[in-house]
Amino acid sequence: MGRCIWVNGPLIIGAGPSGLTVAACLKQQNVPFVILERSNCIASFWQSHTYDRLKLHLPKKFCQLPDFPFPAHYPEYPSKDQFIRYLESYALKFEIKPQFKETVESARYGDGIWRVRVRKETEEVEYVCQWIVVASGENAESSVPEFEGIEDFEGMKIHASDYKNGEGFGGKKVLVVGCGNSGMEVCLDLCINGALPSMVVRDSVHVLPREIFGKSTFELSVTLMKWLPVRLVDKILLTLARVVLGDLEKYGLKRPKTGPLELKNTRGKTPVLDIGTLERIKSREIKVVPGIKKFFPGRVELIDGRVIDVDSVIFATGYCSNVLSWLQGSDFFNKDGFPKEKFPNGWKGKSGLYAVGFTRRGLSGASLDAVRVAEDISKVWKEETVAAGGFTDTENIYTRVENNNTE
Ligand SMILES: Cc1cc2nc3c(=O)[nH]c(=O)nc-3n(C[C@H](O)[C@H](O)[C@H](O)COP(=O)(O)OP(=O)(O)OC[C@H]3O[C@@H](n4cnc5c(N)ncnc54)[C@H](O)[C@@H]3O)c2cc1C
Repeated sequence: MGRCIWVNGPLIIGAGPSGLTVAACLKQQNVPFVILERSNCIASFWQSHTYDRLKLHLPKKFCQLPDFPFPAHYPEYPSKDQFIRYLESYALKFEIKPQFKETVESARYGDGIWRVRVRKETEEVEYVCQWIVVASGENAESSVPEFEGIEDFEGMKIHASDYKNGEGFGGKKVLVVGCGNSGMEVCLDLCINGALPSMVVRDSVHVLPREIFGKSTFELSVTLMKWLPVRLVDKILLTLARVVLGDLEKYGLKRPKTGPLELKNTRGKTPVLDIGTLERIKSREIKVVPGIKKFFPGRVELIDGRVIDVDSVIFATGYCSNVLSWLQGSDFFNKDGFPKEKFPNGWKGKSGLYAVGFTRRGLSGASLDAVRVAEDISKVWKEETVAAGGFTDTENIYTRVENNNTE
């Protein structure tokens, strides 16, 4: 075992929007912390695993972090580059300095403390602390289901997290597996770049317009939900969606029986907000095909028996949490690596364990978690600090942490 480092304050795992937000909230409370990030930058998901044309799916006012509005000149749906710049200014303003290239490999509680083993390039380090804040993300790892024959398919196979743009796909038959927001948008991008995409829609899907009569569909839902029960709001949304988008079933897009908001609340399934893909589906530039039965060299057999030629495959099949691969001896998370307690109660576990950003409610859910976590930790931390005879200045505490490092 390598160095052992005592952290005075919480150890935050992940420097995405959730980790940065909890760090900023702790900073405002003068509580010291250490924030670890496996990659070499903040918001690595946004910087390294998203496509070029990505914009925030929701209007900016629903995505801003506490006490830090988006610049007024930003558009209603900021681009990914604008969002990254916004996060960089956020980290700068609150002086958050994550420790990069430090990957948490295990965390275990025992004898009143957390022991967190970290791979730091070639070195192994153990952090010892009283609190850990899990902010490693709902989208920590790409998820690809198993497909029969996929190893025989010799064309390009990538996950949507590795797709940047349609350059190089011109004239190619591309099979996009998955019809969530990413699958739909990748198809649109491919189409714009002259590719011939087919989108696999295995199941049913709710597609809603991003805006209804000039007003954001998300904002409309939030407003209606304040006054009406979810099922009634779903009925209203679906009626409006039909007026704006027409009947989608004839294009192969069947709607689930459960309404979009109820489905989001019960199964965490996000409805697709259309930003132009439907037009291309209606004009048949994007083909909708049913589930996959088997891959062959250069071809794929679909469950309806059809066999189609395919040059490349893009798996827009989602992401998963990685918490269970490193968090040991805790029953706070379920088998999917999400807190067992549903929103808004999934932020606090036992023995100083906290989670931020696992609400399936995007950045606004992460912000709510972060504020609660920081308040909870700072209350105890301040009591203990006062009891220990002072030390409320962050700089001094950092010095004390460094001095306490033991080889
Ligand atoms: C394509 C897409 C678009 C989205 N658009 C919106 C939107 O418009 N509005 C909205 O509100 N939400 C949106 N979301 C949802 C969500 O808000 C974002 O995914 C957001 O990035 C979540 O932030 P996070 O910090 O929780 O997770 P992440 O951004 O995934 O950050 C987690 C960090 O933890 C690090 N990490 C993971 N494991 C370890 C480990 N073991 N050790 C050290 N570090 C680790 C990762 O490298 C990563 O940097 C979108 C999601 C996707 C997939």
